[in-house]
Amino acid sequence: MSDELVGKAEHQRYPLVEDKVQAEIMAHVRAEARPVSKARLIEALSSSRGKISAEVARLIEKGLLAEEGLAESEGGRRSPLLGIPPSAGLIAAVDIGATSIEVALTTLGNELLAHQGEPSDVRDGPVPILNRVKILISELLDEQAAKRRDVIAIGVGVPGPVEQASGLLTVPPIMPGWDRFPIRDAFAGEYAAPVFIDNDVNVMALGEHWGGVAKGVDDLIFVKIGTGIGSGIIIDGRLHRGTQGCAGDFGHICVDPDGPLCSCGNSGCLEAMAAAPAIVLQAERCAREGDSPPLMALLQEKGELTMKDVGEAARRSDYCALTIIRRSGRLIGQTLASAVNVLNPSMIVIGGGVSRVGHALLAEVRSAVYQRSLPLATRNLPIVMSELDDVAGVVGTSVMAASEVLSLASRKQTQPSAGVVGVRRGA
Ligand SMILES: [Zn+2]
Repeated sequence: MSDELVGKAEHQRYPLVEDKVQAEIMAHVRAEARPVSKARLIEALSSSRGKISAEVARLIEKGLLAEEGLAESEGGRRSPLLGIPPSAGLIAAVDIGATSIEVALTTLGNELLAHQGEPSDVRDGPVPILNRVKILISELLDEQAAKRRDVIAIGVGVPGPVEQASGLLTVPPIMPGWDRFPIRDAFAGEYAAPVFIDNDVNVMALGEHWGGVAKGVDDLIFVKIGTGIGSGIIIDGRLHRGTQGCAGDFGHICVDPDGPLCSCGNSGCLEAMAAAPAIVLQAERCAREGDSPPLMALLQEKGELTMKDVGEAARRSDYCALTIIRRSGRLIGQTLASAVNVLNPSMIVIGGGVSRVGHALLAEVRSAVYQRSLPLATRNLPIVMSELDDVAGVVGTSVMAASEVLSLASRKQTQPSAGVVGVRRGA
């Protein structure tokens, strides 16, 4: 696999397509996620048969498409099946969370080849975290017998607001030390591939829309409940980033002006009252006051509690843990109800570490949304758990990176720092 990959990748430049028809062909083949017959492509796209045939031939020559057998006969000559071969190049997909890193290698068609993850603390700062990310990518490349130059795009999800034009984090509340850190530069010395950065919840929404429970659902809200709370919004099949890139920043909606101080500097944000740190804090208070003997025993033994401890206590029907989790679910559901009234989505997907505590949270979110949203908006509104779970982020960053390198309207790779990125250096 490696030799072939190297040969192709060296001839590719970003963006990988040359005109609108090539972009449409690649988008169609990617969307199908399986080989598509040339006859079906001609049927689906508006360009002429001759133009599509010519551009398919060009894409095959560039190594972005390959013939993968023949379609079933529909009378007459059997049409060749077209797919995106692994040799078209690899995507390094990175999902940096507040408390974990997930890294994956995928094909340009977003097929997950390998992934690995580990606990990590984003507060350690960008240099150690990104160094670790690069080591994890190298390990996966070795495992796949591939080289750095086979990587044609890098996608990175981060748990903070990302300014779209520059790809820079801007005053991220839970990421001290990352404000305007040039993440793209961190890869520039070792990879010639362009780097695309987005908020972690946006990419999770993309992942779930691409290959999870929301596949084929074109209006959805993905809510991540973890150390922070955020949402990714897909409208008409496209991610809605907003003008600056911070649409969906759901966790900093005020639910109680007299509530606790939030990491963003305001008081009573949803995140400060319902995310993992708030849940743990309340559980520790319960334990100290002797309201939950199991949590008290755990706290005495370890000196602190974790979200996992609270989740396990809730699963064992501990009254305190269940009450805290239900309260969190109710606050999230009430806030989400407003978003439902504004956006009228056709599905809500819940993901992130806190969502794994079990049914109690989801039940409370559902009941609050159904109670407080307009009846017409909730008439047919499934509220479901993420299907991709811990790989939603890497699948989503892969989808983002693939769309960008195959799009003529790609976001610019400019930024104020000195790094030369987005320009292939001949590896
Ligand atoms: Zn806040």
